[in-house]
Amino acid sequence: MSVRRFRLFVNGRYCPGQEGQTVPCTNPANGEVVAEVAVGTAADVDRAVEAADRAFPAWADMSGEQRGRILIRAAEILGRRAKEFAELEMLDVGKTISDTTNIDVPVSVNFLQWYGRAALDNLGETIPIPNPKQFDFSLRQPYGVVGLIAPWNFPLVNAVLKSGPALAVGNTAVMKPASWTPLTTLLIGEVFAEAGLPPGVLNIVNGSGGVVGEAICAHPRVRKIFFTGSTEVGRRILQVASRNVTDTSMELGGKSPNIIFADADWDQAVAGAAFGILLNNGQNCIAGSRLLVEREIHDQFVAALVSKFKSIRIGDPADKSSQLGAIVSESHYRTIMEYVEIGKEEARLECGGKHPPGEAFSKGWFIEPTLFSNVSNDMRIAQEEIFGPVLAVIPFAGEDEAVAIANDTIYGLGSGVFTTDLAKAHRVLRRLEAGTVYVNTYNMVYPQAPFPSWKQSGNAVERGLHGLLENTRFKNVIMDVSGQPIDFF
Ligand code: NAP
Ligand code: MG
Repeated sequence: MSVRRFRLFVNGRYCPGQEGQTVPCTNPANGEVVAEVAVGTAADVDRAVEAADRAFPAWADMSGEQRGRILIRAAEILGRRAKEFAELEMLDVGKTISDTTNIDVPVSVNFLQWYGRAALDNLGETIPIPNPKQFDFSLRQPYGVVGLIAPWNFPLVNAVLKSGPALAVGNTAVMKPASWTPLTTLLIGEVFAEAGLPPGVLNIVNGSGGVVGEAICAHPRVRKIFFTGSTEVGRRILQVASRNVTDTSMELGGKSPNIIFADADWDQAVAGAAFGILLNNGQNCIAGSRLLVEREIHDQFVAALVSKFKSIRIGDPADKSSQLGAIVSESHYRTIMEYVEIGKEEARLECGGKHPPGEAFSKGWFIEPTLFSNVSNDMRIAQEEIFGPVLAVIPFAGEDEAVAIANDTIYGLGSGVFTTDLAKAHRVLRRLEAGTVYVNTYNMVYPQAPFPSWKQSGNAVERGLHGLLENTRFKNVIMDVSGQPIDFF
């Protein structure tokens, strides 16, 4: 395997970090070094912010249509290079090639296209006021330079989810990928450049959260921070942002309840529960990691799910038939395994919880799909985000108890309800304290569908027109159209 070199993307050009540091990037499925990646410092952030600042006036002055056309062209180029991006994402993150080919890349193309089209929309409004001599209207304007900080679980998707809406409405940006998974984010600079994005509009600086991330958040010229990551780091970023009273849009962690009522369609519920937790090996902010199952079907449901978990093909991510790949890194693997040990103390391990046996898995960070039953909601495996293929099953009796358990968490990101009783679904979805409720489905994503975060899962809405508006600031104008003085004195 040849080792590719990746550099920072600043002012439309690839360049080394100013201190010349690089780090190897390894494939978590076999430990092979796949790339050598430049690492930036605060000086690189300064340079990137300057470039973004210089590029801002012309970019913001372009029509939405012109900006949108560039994003749509970028989507086309990404689509043409789908195979290359899918392979790189697989090597960097340990996801299966079928996931990166069928989910990560097409979802990213789709989002870019949609933001390109959404750039056309007129976001202002006129507001009637009770004075015929004056006129009130509002503008939605870009912030200027924004900071975009992404997690490692869906690197390419997150790079697009952040840069797409920011650029569509006329911001310029400095984006930082997660240190574990910088490759596709750095490569997307090429895609944007080929699409005709002016230099400086999007700058991509790889580097550690503590150095590059904080430099972005603390920079006085960065007008808004868009962050997706853990609640713990989110709290730190809010502190740093408070120095300059910088606006923030935070998409943080989750411990989402997926509620299975006894009247649910059986096959739909079993499939939805498994997909809810195991998509991307559970490394998913909205993973349905707490499965609430109504008592009368509990034992039978757990049995069905265990057999489903055991049937899933875990394997070499490069093999098209693999359904689950590797965990993103050794350190994350160890964190998940610590939670498995905690779970064994607290609850009953029904399946998984170990590294799959065999030579094929010996060099990578793999974990079998893991299910704990006999969980109560106060246990650590029910309260803390594990971010791995580990499901905690909690029994309940009736709607009220389901809602009480579901809401008993610091988080408020996702939730699921499986029932064939639509009236019940409506009653329950209104009471759930979460930004997203899936009914009889899970993990679905559409560019048009907003993605709000509640409680300690964040303070923002991403995606959809609401997400686009998060990238604009509101200005109100009161204009006198009478030509007459208002002589107050
Ligand atoms: P993380 O550890 O919080 O890191 C996220 C990003 O923040 C990384 O780029 C990281 O850089 C950077 N960072 C770390 N410390 C920083 C600091 N002091 N200042 C500025 N930036 C800093 O999260 P992760 O482990 O990558 O991702 C998993 C988490 O993301 C989970 O909690 C998951 O729920 C959440 N997530 C949420 C959503 C959502 O939409 N709500 C979506 C996906 C993931 P380094 O990589 O260099 O540490
Ligand atoms: Mg990697």
